[in-house]
Amino acid sequence: MNKAILSSDEIPRQWYNLAADLPTPMQPPLGPDGNPVSPEMLAPIFPMALIEQEVSPKQWIDIPEGILDILLKWRPTSLHRAFAFEKELGTPARIYYKNESLSPPGSHKPNTAVAQAWYNKQAGTKRLTTETGAGQWGSALAFACAQLGLECKVYMVRISFEQKPYRKIMMKAWGADCIASPSTETKAGRDILDKSPDTPGSLGIAISEAVEAAVTDESGSTKYSLGSVLNHVMLHQTIIGLETKKQLALFDEKTPDVVIGCAGGGSNFAGLAFPFVHDKINGADIEIIPTEPASCPSLTQGPFVYDLGDASGMTPLLPMYSLGHGFVPPPIHAGGLRYHGMAPLVSAAAVEGLVTPRAIHQLECFEAAVTFARTEGIIVAPETSHAVAGVVQEAKRAKEEGKEKVIVFNLSGHGLMDLKGYEAYFAGELQDYSLPKEIIEENLKEIADFPKPAVAKTGRW
Ligand SMILES: *Cc1c(COP(=O)(O)O)cnc(C)c1O
Repeated sequence: MNKAILSSDEIPRQWYNLAADLPTPMQPPLGPDGNPVSPEMLAPIFPMALIEQEVSPKQWIDIPEGILDILLKWRPTSLHRAFAFEKELGTPARIYYKNESLSPPGSHKPNTAVAQAWYNKQAGTKRLTTETGAGQWGSALAFACAQLGLECKVYMVRISFEQKPYRKIMMKAWGADCIASPSTETKAGRDILDKSPDTPGSLGIAISEAVEAAVTDESGSTKYSLGSVLNHVMLHQTIIGLETKKQLALFDEKTPDVVIGCAGGGSNFAGLAFPFVHDKINGADIEIIPTEPASCPSLTQGPFVYDLGDASGMTPLLPMYSLGHGFVPPPIHAGGLRYHGMAPLVSAAAVEGLVTPRAIHQLECFEAAVTFARTEGIIVAPETSHAVAGVVQEAKRAKEEGKEKVIVFNLSGHGLMDLKGYEAYFAGELQDYSLPKEIIEENLKEIADFPKPAVAKTGRW
């Protein structure tokens, strides 16, 4: 058997909330005055149902039927045994991958885009705004809004808008309005354009524009949507790991030895890993590894701090590993992993030692991705290549140790819209970037005066 398929009626009907199980409670987001942010303060931006999920202490949260109906268009996704890849690596490990590239936009992101659009629709929202870098999140939200009859406005970082036409066209096909950021439509955009008319734009600027567009619509029917980092996004993604558990059982596997996902803001990693983190908290022996780019190593080199979620101070302070909100990562091809911080829930699990992060250079990632493409056939996204490279490292370790380990990873998306990265790799144009300690220290100076989170851990892991 090389793949496990679940029927529609086997789709999980609840999401798993790790916040309920962490041995040390989550620390709250803080406002600019250093006091915890109240749910009411978030109400102009998000519908109440999502705010409730953001702070929920419940371990399991029901998935509404209306959301399941849409997810069932491509879920449950298949779990594959990577026989050919194992053979090529000569490893005694059994390698499995969860194929999240099967959604219409081609990644895990619609799992939360659909849920967010649905709760917004219920709350009477007519229009969602968001930012996008390379366009993966923008296209996922455009798809979800089309499914639910919502308008969708995407502020796309200008340099990507000009250089990456295809995801922009996908958004258009799904009926979304995608414009280059900074734009003249918002005050935030106009201010930047006045100062630097030739700016390539940044995610920080695009977030500012999208949030401004939501809060300044006085009818209250425009809200904002974020594709990663926040607790409710992690929650929606756990359907990945919950399906995976059922599918491993179909392969007669029990607890895996190693679970791997790439981590940008943390959502696809969390989606696969958190149901296994639950098992680990309850005594299972699993190594759970988020892999990140060596050029943007928030988990492996950033401190655990309170920092802003965006570059310009529109978001509350979040307790997370961060390289500083002013950090501009080198231009690696895994655009979705170029984020200065890490989801608070993933960060909290890392503080506890429940997950053990690892940084990997991009050449090693592309090499692993090419081996995977030539054996398993799927050309993975440059982001996903960081998970594949982590798997290669663990498969080699299993070989050295002579152990039949079970390794599971999240194939977060396909790379068919990101072939430029592969082209540059084949042309020998890519290089590895290491980050000098001084650059990190320089960026962290900016947040030196922010409140400090407690670094509390039980020491059990
Ligand atoms: C956006 C994206 C990522 C990174 O985001 P996370 O929130 O860390 O999951 C990883 N893989 C793919 C395919 C993506 O589109």
